[in-house]
Amino acid sequence: MRAVVLSQHGGPDAMGLTDAPDPVPGAGEATVRVAAVAVNRLDIWVREDVGHAYAARLPLIPGYDVAGVVEAVGDGVADIAPGDRVYVHYDFSCGRCEFCLEGDEAACAQYQVMGVNRDGGYAELVAAPVRNLFALPDGLSLEHAAAAGSVYLTAYHMLFSRARLAAGESVLVTAAGSGVGGAAIALARFAGARVFANASTAEKRERAIATGVEATIDYTASGWEDELRRLTGGRGVDLVVDHVGAAVFDHALAALAPKGRIVLCGASSGPRAELDLIDLFARQLSVIGSSDGSRRELWEVFRLLGEGRIDPPVIDAVLPLAEAAEAQDRLATRAHFGRVLLDPRL
Ligand SMILES: [Zn+2]
Repeated sequence: MRAVVLSQHGGPDAMGLTDAPDPVPGAGEATVRVAAVAVNRLDIWVREDVGHAYAARLPLIPGYDVAGVVEAVGDGVADIAPGDRVYVHYDFSCGRCEFCLEGDEAACAQYQVMGVNRDGGYAELVAAPVRNLFALPDGLSLEHAAAAGSVYLTAYHMLFSRARLAAGESVLVTAAGSGVGGAAIALARFAGARVFANASTAEKRERAIATGVEATIDYTASGWEDELRRLTGGRGVDLVVDHVGAAVFDHALAALAPKGRIVLCGASSGPRAELDLIDLFARQLSVIGSSDGSRRELWEVFRLLGEGRIDPPVIDAVLPLAEAAEAQDRLATRAHFGRVLLDPRL
């Protein structure tokens, strides 16, 4: 098969399109012919070995948001068959420990991520245990499944399991053009919230309006929290959904209504921020961390997408495997609005 292989850490040249052996499904596994794999910022961090944090196993086929069609199954597989349309879940874990049993696989001691610790989907074929395969509803395309996967799961866990978003509340979503930002907008709208979003350019703010947000904020402008306060009649928002981190944190806190909360699933602009503890208790604010989500939540995301009850992800571009470096560059330079996909069939 053709595959993009990361042979060493470094710049885009560290990846190359090459011929690799076809994966063979072991007992309890299936191989999937990849129709779409979403490009994520983590793919870039793994390539660059940012902070030496990801313990990637090289050489590596990157890519963890994969959808495709089952090609072959190994021994002992009864409930998945060639031709089935599936999303390949990226979490690999023991399946038996206390954390796995409650669906919180990221806490498992044997936790691994496809495209980081084992081969992923920048390839024509990928192999995975059948417990990682989610059969897709008819109403959901393979492209939308790959584009939604990790970011809709992350946003669903943030908004509903962690931040307990309720109908009628007001929400600010930061970085509307990002994958998680777009997912949070779709899910907050589904929940019946008033949704505001911020983005760094006029073009992105215009596109965010087209996804159904009530108003947008230019968060490169100083005092943008005052504009948000004005838009909410002086009250501020009930919830900020963020993964930008340090660059927006103090403004986001200032934009909160009394008893407001901020939920974070990342800190792409930096990990350190200042917190005024007097403000925290006096206004009864909550700062909530969130990471990944459960298989049950992913199942729910695909069900809602299949029923057309939440907006599908915005697709920014679909590129061939040979343009994996260009695809990652669209994310690295923040040129994208929505999800960048690779289609190995191109
Ligand atoms: Zn486990």
